[in-house]
Amino acid sequence: MPRNLPHMLCLILALLLVTAMPPVAQAQVIKSGQPSCPGVALTFDLCPVRKGTGYDQALIDYLIEQKIPATFFMSGKWMARHEQQVQTLLQVPFFEIGTHGEVHAHLPLHSTEEQKQEILGPVRLLKTKYSHNATLFRPPYGEFNDDTVNVARTLGLQFILWNVVSGDPDQTITASQIEDRLRRSVRKGSVIVMHANGKGKHTREVVQDLHEQLLPERNLAPMTISDLLTCNGKVAP
Ligand SMILES: [Zn+2]
Repeated sequence: MPRNLPHMLCLILALLLVTAMPPVAQAQVIKSGQPSCPGVALTFDLCPVRKGTGYDQALIDYLIEQKIPATFFMSGKWMARHEQQVQTLLQVPFFEIGTHGEVHAHLPLHSTEEQKQEILGPVRLLKTKYSHNATLFRPPYGEFNDDTVNVARTLGLQFILWNVVSGDPDQTITASQIEDRLRRSVRKGSVIVMHANGKGKHTREVVQDLHEQLLPERNLAPMTISDLLTCNGKVAP
């Protein structure tokens, strides 16, 4: 037996272990709830906009009227232009508020310190101006690297992506195309990404379809992200 065989075996074993484990940073990235949870999270990004009001009033009114739990990810730049709307959203008891970076930067292009400042912008603003502790973070464009995940963790933020893309900002698709896409992909524990900044021409209509048709048909309840992540297979009465 070659003398270095035990060494080689150790090395092979170590390599196998490393390749079998997901990178630590990736394990912190949340894309969905438990597949046993009879709920889905409707999530709405509030990315900054150059044109228009930047606020889908009809959508928000519908969510409030129908008492549909939802989660919003606010960017700092959007918050600066929508103080009244920030207040409104914070006051709705079945809405949850997270953050979405300061200026909607492409985070992986930035240094760790720059990423930290971009992530912290709206977190600080929510705390100082609105006395609100936001603990959910969604990276702009869903773009991140290990630094992004580590910074968010150090700041005590939960890193929230999605596993169902509505495609609502795409101006070339119809409401029924979005609804078909959701019918194919929504299941227990899904996190659906949509927009509440007016970019989604059909978002309100699609949410109405989810609320009236798709979710009841599948016995799925809309939940905030926090409720989805702590869901134990039962829907709160
Ligand atoms: Zn965004």
